[in-house]
This record gives sequence, structure tokens and C-alpha cells, in this order.
Amino acid sequence: MNEEPISEAERKMQFLYALRSKGVTDARVLTAMEAVDRGPFIRGLFASRAYEDMPLPIACGQTISQPSVVGLMSQALQVSSRDKVLEIGTGSGYQAAILSKLARRVYTIDRHRRLVQEARGVFEAMDLTNITAITADGSFGLAEQAPFDRIIVTAAAEDPPGPLLAQLKVGGIMVLPVGQSDTVQHLIRVRKTAEGLEYDELRAVRFVPLLEGLGKDG
Ligand code: SAH
Repeated sequence: MNEEPISEAERKMQFLYALRSKGVTDARVLTAMEAVDRGPFIRGLFASRAYEDMPLPIACGQTISQPSVVGLMSQALQVSSRDKVLEIGTGSGYQAAILSKLARRVYTIDRHRRLVQEARGVFEAMDLTNITAITADGSFGLAEQAPFDRIIVTAAAEDPPGPLLAQLKVGGIMVLPVGQSDTVQHLIRVRKTAEGLEYDELRAVRFVPLLEGLGKDG
């Protein structure tokens, strides 16, 4: 028996309800996540599951993060509309699209050329004109646009990469997963003050690793 297809409005309500129930409570973040359709960022087999709170496979063996994790990271980043933000790990482009609604300007870097090209196509189709997507090894940051008000890394490193800490403004915030294995990682927030760096640990997470150099297709 076929199930009654749910309406777009109902699907959106369920999506937002799932975000709230996982702790995404920031009104600006919820508004951004309501405005950006996750569907176009997912191609092929899994496209029909775009509105579930699940990570999903994308091209180049990578994953688009779970919407609630995107929400929690965006919230932890405390982005203002004046901010210049750097994201490492474009992947599908979904996180960058959410940030583009919260920030003045977003630079996003991925080591896979194909992912960057596909993400650019979606940004264009959605008319998100304040995002610049770049193919490079993001561990080195983006010196020519530094310093950044906010930096987010969506792949896990053992420690926060030095060049990224250096490219963060005083008063800036960086959110990233750190951990020595695939299974135990923690999302941390780093604040850069005039006195130095302050760290706080947010929650356990699981991300693909931050790798060196360009991906095979790039
Ligand atoms: N933020 C993405 C999900 C990221 S998955 C989204 O919203 O869909 C992690 C991404 O980090 C992958 O696409 C992977 O290619 C990328 N990555 C891993 N190491 C990297 C590096 N050193 N520099 C840039 N990107 C990297």
C-alpha cells in the first residue's frame, strides 16, 4: 500500500522540529535552515532522504553532515551578518549555503575539484552570490583573505591546524571536530582573545578525516 505523500509544508515542519529537538534553538540559524532546501545538495539514490536528520553519502566518497550537526555547528559559531567566514570541507556545499544566510561573505575550500564544481552549480541555482568555493588543501587556510571572523572545519584533524588558528581574528571563533581516530572525535570551539586561545568541548561527533593535498579527481 502506498503511503500518502506528505506536503512540502509538513515536511518542512518535521525537519525544523527534528532540529529543535536536537538542540538547534538559535532563531537566525533555524530561519537559515528553513530557507535553504537540502534536496539540491544530494544527488542520486539518496535524494529522497534529504529531509531526514541523517548524514548521507555524496560524490568522492564523502558525506553531507546530518542537518542537526550543521545546525549545532552554525549555532556554536555565533555568526553575525558582518562576518567573513572560512569553511574547510565544502563537500556538498550545504553547510556553506546555511552560513551564507548568516554571514556577509563565505569562503569554502575542498580538496576535491569535482565537489567544488558541483557545489558552485547549486549556489548559482539558488542565487547565493556571497560564497566563493575554491579547490585547495584547506589545512593551509586562505592567506589572501585572512584574517577571518569565523572559521569552521567540517573534517576531523588531530589538532586545530596552525595556519587556521593564525588566520583567525582576535575576537574570532573557530568550530571544528578533533580526534585521533575515526570513532572518537569531539566538536570543539576555539576563541581567540588578546591573551591567547580558549577552548571548549561541545559534544562527540563523527566526521571524515581532514586529509593532505588534493583529492584524486583534482
Ligand atoms: N560541509 C560539508 C560536508 C563535509 S565532508 C557539507 O555540508 O556537505 C568533509 C569534506 O572535507 C570532504 O568533502 C573532503 O573532501 C573535505 N576535506 C578533507 N580534507 C580536506 C582538506 N585538507 N582541505 C579541504 N577539504 C578537505
